[in-house]
Amino acid sequence: RWLNLTELTNAITEDAYVLSQQQHQIQLSPPPAYLILGNESELRSALGNLVSNAVRYTPPGGTISLSWQETQDQLAFHVADTGLGIEAQHLPRLTERFYRVDRARSHATGGTGLGLAIVKHALTHHQARLDVESELGKGSTFKAVFPLARFRPVN
Ligand code: ATP
Ligand code: MG
Repeated sequence: RWLNLTELTNAITEDAYVLSQQQHQIQLSPPPAYLILGNESELRSALGNLVSNAVRYTPPGGTISLSWQETQDQLAFHVADTGLGIEAQHLPRLTERFYRVDRARSHATGGTGLGLAIVKHALTHHQARLDVESELGKGSTFKAVFPLARFRPVN
């Protein structure tokens, strides 16, 4: 199905506000006027999962920025946070089932370690990939990178 990117992004942003409970500053850059070919519930849960991680792993007062970034042949949904960050050694394993970065953190924040495994699965269904940039103590940016071929302009 062709889904309106603005509607999809607004729904995800609403979820972010609810999850954050006013603990974070949430910034949304207006999405480009595109439709995306995909499964609505899968995309919403995959992108929503990135947002819920950003909320969970960013202490109160932090900022979470949501944006779509277009390059020549890709369009990516970026979820940038000013949270705990992740050491480089962990990055390759984040999408493994049940992988969590440290046990102390895991205890404090709950969760099972399945979220990103499911995200990766859903993105793969859409020929998309997950990129992560992170710095311990500074924050993280998770990028769901889609081929531009999955999009068309509205109208
Ligand atoms: P859940 O199954 O509830 O999503 P989870 O959040 O622990 O549990 P994942 O979403 O798969 O599992 O994330 C795996 C691990 O990656 C997390 O435990 C956390 O350590 C780390 N992580 C994920 N997103 C972020 C983020 N935005 N900032 C810092 N660490 C993160
Ligand atoms: Mg998670």
